[in-house]
Amino acid sequence: MERPDPVVHILLCHSPDMQGARTGANGLSERTLAEDVNFFVAERLRAKKVACWPVQKPTLIQRIMYLKKMSQLSPHQVALEVHFNSAPNETARGFMTLAHADSVHGLRLAKCIHERIHELRPAAPDLGVCACRGDLRYVDSDRQYRLQRLALLEDVKQWCCIPEAAFLSNKDDQKWVMKFDNRKALGYSISQGIIDFLETLTLEV
Ligand SMILES: [Zn+2]
Repeated sequence: MERPDPVVHILLCHSPDMQGARTGANGLSERTLAEDVNFFVAERLRAKKVACWPVQKPTLIQRIMYLKKMSQLSPHQVALEVHFNSAPNETARGFMTLAHADSVHGLRLAKCIHERIHELRPAAPDLGVCACRGDLRYVDSDRQYRLQRLALLEDVKQWCCIPEAAFLSNKDDQKWVMKFDNRKALGYSISQGIIDFLETLTLEV
């Protein structure tokens, strides 16, 4: 049976009233930085003829509605939310990619994207692909235990992942993220990871 063409849904992280919309670096919020990355993910996917649907500047209510809509997507669709970890007490640096522990495809999508981010940031600590179920416990680069809640992964268990591409609370990571060219390159890396993932599907029977 023919598989329908996938559509990539990209949600902008945090609504304006959430913490991530306020915390950031040098006057730029996590949300604003992620918006740049989303733009370049979408641009590159469209150039490669992959259908793409970025959700721009959602309010809190719109975000909840989009999360609900994403949870009802058919399993051949990709859902993505790019984050920069900006928790004020965070000491980690580097990058990790999160996916639902029960989703084989979600974990594979995360691995494909993670490998592309690794190529882009070879010198940064690689915190790995993290399998979780909405609540994430992980060990950061300072060997501290951390806990995060991830709304997207709670509801969407299909082809879905969250790249946490850098830590804004870390000076080195912050410097890296502040360069517009790095956000552009990150968008292209993530889109390439999505394309790598979609190519693995064509090998499946
Ligand atoms: Zn975030």
